[in-house]
This record gives sequence, structure tokens and C-alpha cells, in this order.
Amino acid sequence: MSHVFARHSKTPMRRASTGKGVYLYDAEGKKYFDGSGGAAVSCLGHGDPDVIAAIQAQVAQLAYAHTSFFTSDPAEELADRLVNEAPGDLDKVYFVSGGSEAIEAALKLARQYFVEIGQSERRHFIARRQSYHGNTLGALATGGNVWRKQAFAPIMVETSLISPCYAYRGQQEGESAFDYGQRVANELETEVLRLGPETVIGFVAEPVVGATLGAVPPVEGYFKRVREICDQYGLLLILDEVMCGMGRTGSLFAHEQEGITADIVTIAKGLGAGYQPIGAMMCTAGIHQAIADGSGFFQHGHTYIGHPTACAAGNAVVKKLTGGLVDRCAGMGPKLKGALQAEFGQHPHIGDIRGCGLFLGLEIVADRGTKAPFAAADGVNKKIKQTAMSNGLACYPMGGTVDGQSGDHVLLAPPFIMEDTH
Ligand code: PLP
Repeated sequence: MSHVFARHSKTPMRRASTGKGVYLYDAEGKKYFDGSGGAAVSCLGHGDPDVIAAIQAQVAQLAYAHTSFFTSDPAEELADRLVNEAPGDLDKVYFVSGGSEAIEAALKLARQYFVEIGQSERRHFIARRQSYHGNTLGALATGGNVWRKQAFAPIMVETSLISPCYAYRGQQEGESAFDYGQRVANELETEVLRLGPETVIGFVAEPVVGATLGAVPPVEGYFKRVREICDQYGLLLILDEVMCGMGRTGSLFAHEQEGITADIVTIAKGLGAGYQPIGAMMCTAGIHQAIADGSGFFQHGHTYIGHPTACAAGNAVVKKLTGGLVDRCAGMGPKLKGALQAEFGQHPHIGDIRGCGLFLGLEIVADRGTKAPFAAADGVNKKIKQTAMSNGLACYPMGGTVDGQSGDHVLLAPPFIMEDTH
């Protein structure tokens, strides 16, 4: 009997033993195509010799030094690298160990920023339904996945949730995609005015929605309107690129494609590519300066922030991403999407095939015409996962019917090194 506290206590897990390229192997030697890179993590595939060498060299030189006393070469180098590549005014990088930590840091920084500049009455966050920002309590509060939240609602900070930009279900007949995007973006303004603009800290959103909807990109103009509203009422725009960032959508930062800039951006999964647990929160020079000019201390921290070995892995990963792999992802994405469309485009239970880069989703429906989802009790997502695993494909299916607002979906996020033959 295993003493590991597994999340799924009713389903025994296969034991992973080896990773090589785009494949994972279990302890019995069965091979799986890593079709979602875990959860959009393994962008480089497995066993990359350059990342392994960087980790080995760093661990031998300096595995860890606490950031209360020291910075380190790999942390400085990775921060420079990310700032050089980032759009807009993002200028400072706060390293953490994963996505939820990055979001917690973002939420706390945003609140502290307003305290430092004398606007302590700003206390509300606005986010979106059918979103996911992590499992720690602050991150969970800003998420909109009912199933993940409901047991913990009594111990969470209340957050306003508005509609996501989810054209497949939200766009009305006769409405253009652009008008739909403006309509849902304007819900932000309505909510700001309802709460009182002077009480709102910021808006939190994934540029391309990942785990909860399955790779849903915004329609054109949506984020531009969101940015305008944030500027008009003095809100911070916090973009969660934990899943969709680091090249996954075909550009290093997903929001580059929206032609907007953010005040705070979170990244994680692809940053360590699974080789080390690392995430980061990036913010503008202005936000950082407000703290530097004020208390001089960000009231937040964890033991492993800026971990040198994790940062060394991040450097090796980002070097590879910017050295051609993001372009490769941008080129391979349309091929995979085209293949999915050819295979499943007319399937009676596939309602939508969407996404960008190698971040693609298929929405599973009971009826293609009415878009009616399957009932949660049908357990479609579980059946897909089991069938895929037994056929040698590890992919990420999620049940959408828990909130009655979407169908089940499958998220595909394979390594950028995949070939046409895969
Ligand atoms: N934000 C987004 C958009 C995510 O998809 C996730 C994880 O799936 C998180 C935050 C939380 O990241 P982690 O699981 O590393 O804490």
C-alpha cells in the first residue's frame, strides 16, 4: 500500500518511471505520448540534455541561498532575460515555486501597492467565471471554477466574477465577434461602478483560458477594451500566464498577441518545463518603485523564492524557447489544429476545436446542434482519460458540466519538440 497522499484516492495511479522526448514510460514499460505536457508544463519534452547540464552545474556550485541574505547569478540572469523578452513596462521579477504562489504574490503586491500610495480603500478584485488561478486560498478566491471552490467558499475572500470571453457559448446570434468581446469586457466596467471604482484593486484574467475551459482565446478587441477600463478607473491589470505563457500560444507571452500591456503578469509551468518547480510574478517599474519609495519591503515571501537551481533551469529553458522553440510551437500549432479539424471537425460529439500555438482544446458535447453538454454523471471526461491512457496518450480532460456553463473538454498541450509524425 502506498503512503503517498494521492489526490485521487479512489483511482490507483500508474507509476511513471522514465521520460524521453515527447514520451513518458510507466514502471511496466508502457509508453505514453505526453499530449498535454502534464498540464501544459513539459514544453521542451523530457530528458533535455542542456537543461539537465545547467541544473547539475548549478547544484554543484550553489544549490540554495536564502533571499533574505543573497541574490544569485542564475536569479539575476533569468530576471534580465525575462524582462528583455517581456512586452510593455514589465521590469521586476519575483521568483516563486509555482503558479499558485505567483498569483498569491500578484494579489498581495497589487493590494500593497495601493496601501503604499495611500489608496487603502481599494480592496476588491474582479475576475472571471470559468477561470482557474490556483489552489491556495487567495488564488482559489479569484478563480471561477465552482467545483474547485465550493467546499472552501466560507473561508475565502469574496471576489466579483464576471463573464469570461467564451465566444463558442457566449456570442449571440447576429452579434459579431468584436461586439461580443466589447459586451463581455464592458461587464468589467459595470462591476467596477457597482463596487465603487475607488474600492477596486484590479482585474485578474488568463489571456487564453486553460484548465477550466480548454484553450479559449479571447476575441479581437476584448483585452484592449479591458485595458481601457482598467486605465479609466485606475485598476491594475493582472494577467495570469501560468499556463498559457512561455511560448505555449506561439509567442513567449500570450498577451503580446492582444496588443496590450499588463501591470502584473504571472508565469510558471513552462518556465521550468517540469525540470524544476519555478514560477514568477513580473511587475512594472512603477509598482516596484512605489514600494521602494514607501515601506521598502514587500510583505510577502517563501523560503524557496529565487531558488538558484530552479533559476538555472529557467535560464536553460528560456534560452531554448527564445532560441527557436517558440517559433517551432507557432508553426506546429496550426498543423496540429488542422489535423484535429480533419479528424474531429464533423464528429457528432465535438462542438468546438479551438486554441492557438500548441495550446488546443476540444469541447465535447452531447449534441453538436444545440451545444448541450453531457451530464456530469456521464463521467465523459473520466472515460476519455482512461481510454486515452490505455491507448498510450496522456491528455488533460476536464468536466465542464459542474457549473452547467460549458461542456467537457480535452486540453492538448504537447511538447514543442513534437514532429509532424506525432
Ligand atoms: N494559474 C493558471 C492559469 C493555471 O492554469 C494554474 C494551474 O493549472 C495555476 C495558476 C496554478 O498553478 P500551480 O498548479 O503551479 O500552483
